[in-house]
Amino acid sequence: MSRLLVVVVIFIAIYLLLKHYRRQMPKKDVMGEDASKHRENMVRCAHCGVHLPKGESIMVEHKHYCSEAHRHAHTGESE
Ligand SMILES: [Zn+2]
Repeated sequence: MSRLLVVVVIFIAIYLLLKHYRRQMPKKDVMGEDASKHRENMVRCAHCGVHLPKGESIMVEHKHYCSEAHRHAHTGESE
């Protein structure tokens, strides 16, 4: 009976270890991907020229803007 307990404890230990490693491994990959993605997805505000991540920009008619105010200012000027 105590042998079975030891086996169960070992299995739990292995499970926790794998869980721990799995949690650590993808984190590194995601961080690396994120860094390269951020570098690739930097866009320039069509109004003031500031660089910002694509996800944070406002895109209108294939142009990127850093803020709603600049989008208004730019479209207001050109139209
Ligand atoms: Zn701007």
